[in-house]
Amino acid sequence: MNSKLNGQVAFINGGSRGIGAAAARRLAAEGARVAIGYAASAIAAEAVVEQIKAAGGEAFAIQADASDAASLTSAIDATAARYGRLDILVNSAGVLLLGPTEQFSLADFDRTLAVNVRGVFVASQAAARHMQDGGRIINIGSTNAQRMPFEGGAAYAMSKSALVGLVKGMARDLGARNITVNNIAPGPIDTDMNPAESDFALGLHGLMALKRHGTADEVAAMVAYLASPEAAFVTGADLLIDGGFAA
Ligand code: NDP
Repeated sequence: MNSKLNGQVAFINGGSRGIGAAAARRLAAEGARVAIGYAASAIAAEAVVEQIKAAGGEAFAIQADASDAASLTSAIDATAARYGRLDILVNSAGVLLLGPTEQFSLADFDRTLAVNVRGVFVASQAAARHMQDGGRIINIGSTNAQRMPFEGGAAYAMSKSALVGLVKGMARDLGARNITVNNIAPGPIDTDMNPAESDFALGLHGLMALKRHGTADEVAAMVAYLASPEAAFVTGADLLIDGGFAA
């Protein structure tokens, strides 16, 4: 087993499915002990824990609703208490609520902001309080912060654009402690949120240099890079992994 992250502890905000689950498996494979935060998918979160344990790693699942500051903060505090430290936070929890501007409900607008932006701030704040020198905050943003080429995604694109500014400011706040703060900005990735097989998917491929969806494991590899010692000089960045979607 790779031991790059031996002794480290990671909290995955939204680790039950998709990109977050892949990031959890990858960080565990590199030696980190991992907390799988989930909101609704308890069974899926436990399945990720079992996969990690079967591969020789250490993980546990904990309910942490990203739209509920108290729930998210207490889950992060509990992770730090359980393992005695916290080194890596991955913010992957996200919702994609689509609709035309004229009809888009304020409830959906507020939910988008609560999970995709406020939850990232809350988790980062809670995690930073526990992190030592060298900590890592890694958000899953989106290429839609740079290019929004289909209708109905205004609130989603806004939420991912907000993260670009958030990491720049947070990188400054936490730089003195050598904690790095970065976004990963994926293009279409084959998950429940954006399945690779659909008419919508074909339309997306037409916009890309590489005409396919990416995989959650490809994004997890970039998470592993940002978590690694090799990425110690990368902070405040928004790193595209989008098959040329924004090119
Ligand atoms: P999935 O729909 O596969 O998974 C979403 C994850 O977010 C689940 O683990 C879910 O947990 C969690 N989540 C949703 N709401 C909450 C909440 N309130 N509190 C805690 N967790 C929550 O999506 P992806 O893996 O594709 O998306 C992960 C991130 O990547 C998102 O931020 C998304 O915007 C971003 N992204 C995805 C792209 C894609 O094409 N797939 C492209 C670019 C960015 P649970 O089921 O337990 O509620």
